[in-house]
Amino acid sequence: MNIFEAYNSTKKALEKAGAEDYVFEAKQIIKHITGFTNAQILMNYTNQLSDYQQNRLMALLKQRELRYPLQYIFGEWSFYGYDFYVGPGVLCPRADTETLIEKSLELLKDRKNPEILDLCAGSGCIGITLAKQVPEAAVTMVEKFPEAARYAEKNIVRNSADNVRLITGDIFESAGADKKYDLIVSNPPYIPENEMDTVSPETKYEPETALKGGKDGLDFYRAIIKNYKSALKEDGIMAFEVGAGEAAAVRSLFKDAGFKDTGTVNDLNGIKRVVFALL
Ligand code: GLN
Repeated sequence: MNIFEAYNSTKKALEKAGAEDYVFEAKQIIKHITGFTNAQILMNYTNQLSDYQQNRLMALLKQRELRYPLQYIFGEWSFYGYDFYVGPGVLCPRADTETLIEKSLELLKDRKNPEILDLCAGSGCIGITLAKQVPEAAVTMVEKFPEAARYAEKNIVRNSADNVRLITGDIFESAGADKKYDLIVSNPPYIPENEMDTVSPETKYEPETALKGGKDGLDFYRAIIKNYKSALKEDGIMAFEVGAGEAAAVRSLFKDAGFKDTGTVNDLNGIKRVVFALL
């Protein structure tokens, strides 16, 4: 089987299995198996795969046909151009969350040596990306679960993010609220309890603790606003990723807590994905 044939049969198998982004995934898989860049694949598409590569491809597709996340199969995933270790026990970085990065970078413009707090940090993709994009920033990440924190720790090292400190602690106990921040960001668990069974087959392999946001999905937003408002500098900002349909409710939480200006940002699918508020 040559590279081109492998790509086509991978695409077909993924589509049949119901994988949403089967074209993108097929490309990623061929790159992973061959170790080639996009350009090398284009130049060498008639190359034969070795037996070893074919066996790996078959094994990988078998897992993927069970809808096991491709991110977990690879053990790493790219987010905002940086590479992160991921695996069972930690939420996979998602393209939607890059909206939160874009908005945060815009909000941080003109701030000197900003202090940033990333709550429910998981793999650390948000905090580490901000730390790399704003090298003079000091970033604190808080993650409750040791399984997830281990990924964050490895990702700090992998990305040489020397300006990040990681705290294993609970946002319901105000972990990390020991100093004042310019920006507090979070992509907390936000799926309402009764919608947990509607998540994709891939998400069913991800930790429930990274997904379930209480009865109405808003438990973590309430807790963060309540526990961390006093950890903001005078002109501090909070910015959250929110679930589809949650933006209005989260904006009201901010208004009720006395934040001056609030706003939302759409993700690439036109869903209000980020809510931010200025103190
Ligand atoms: N975006 C994820 C999903 O809908 C949820 C992530 C979260 O709860 N923060 O599958």
